[in-house]
Amino acid sequence: MLEFTWFVHCPRCGRASIEVHQKNAMRCTVCGYVYFHNTCAATAGIIETGDGVLLTVRAHKPKAGTYDLPGGFVDYNESIEDALRREIREELGIDVAITAYLGSFPNRYVYRDVVYFTADSFFVCRPIDEVVPLTGSEELRRWEIFPVDKLPFDKIGFESNVKALGLYRRFSASR
Ligand SMILES: [Zn+2]
Repeated sequence: MLEFTWFVHCPRCGRASIEVHQKNAMRCTVCGYVYFHNTCAATAGIIETGDGVLLTVRAHKPKAGTYDLPGGFVDYNESIEDALRREIREELGIDVAITAYLGSFPNRYVYRDVVYFTADSFFVCRPIDEVVPLTGSEELRRWEIFPVDKLPFDKIGFESNVKALGLYRRFSASR
């Protein structure tokens, strides 16, 4: 676990006395403090428009320049569904209705040299109003809409998104 976090010192007593505890936690051998580097809940939406699925282009690290699905991490005291609607509103300026739960896949998200293990939940959504995004969101450089049979699988940054869009393609064909 310590190779994912680079933690050296105990956050409670400050001594360089931590060891791996179970597989996803650290324990201080001096004061006994235990901290779990737990899996984070994250979510992403596959937004269906009349012309296909909306993919965003990542503007920032990690994976800048690759295609992504709109979404993000779940906040404290927030449901996964509320997190998804909030993230899409923040990123794209649109409100969506969730039409189906697709499934979940594990992912790794590296931020400032710390590896976060995530469980990503994927939902199918539709815009409540006509899609007229979007200008100048800090989080995004741009977005594009792809027909289901032309999804750019080789340019998608995160493995969990590749798997989710593969599942979506089968889900879409079965309707
Ligand atoms: Zn300690």
